[in-house]
Amino acid sequence: MVARSAPSPADVWEILEEVRDPEVPVLSVVELGIVRDIAIEGDHVTVQITPTYSGCPAMHEIERTVVGALASRGLVAEVRTVFSPAWTTDWMSDVAKEKLRAYGIAPPGPTTEQPLVPLMRRAAPVPCPFCGSRETETRSEFGSTACKSLQVCNACRQPFEHFKAI
Ligand SMILES: [Zn+2]
Repeated sequence: MVARSAPSPADVWEILEEVRDPEVPVLSVVELGIVRDIAIEGDHVTVQITPTYSGCPAMHEIERTVVGALASRGLVAEVRTVFSPAWTTDWMSDVAKEKLRAYGIAPPGPTTEQPLVPLMRRAAPVPCPFCGSRETETRSEFGSTACKSLQVCNACRQPFEHFKAI
């Protein structure tokens, strides 16, 4: 890309495809589905991002990385945080979910699968990303981040994280 010339939306999406999510480095912010929209005016790019979980501490990190990635291509970037509608794990592509599984994190299921009545709510077992067994149990609702729960597989004895569906 020639510096100073206005980038095309495809250029900008391509740059954003290289920005990893700090909490799930196997996924880009685009694959995660948090980039809502982009706007280009000359060499100024505005990126609209919806945080995964409100108050997710990674948001500032993502913002810095996005601005830095675009700046390295000579673009002035600004990140706008959009809270509505709220991000849902349904925005994550199937490819992204498969990458999560390959990385050892059980991907979120479709949010519609979750029961609507809280009292009846018993979480269905999360399939183990290593051996596929459903003989798993939740060790903690919170793993390394609030976005993930900590699970353990009783079949292969591997602990793993589950990206919770929201
Ligand atoms: Zn297992």
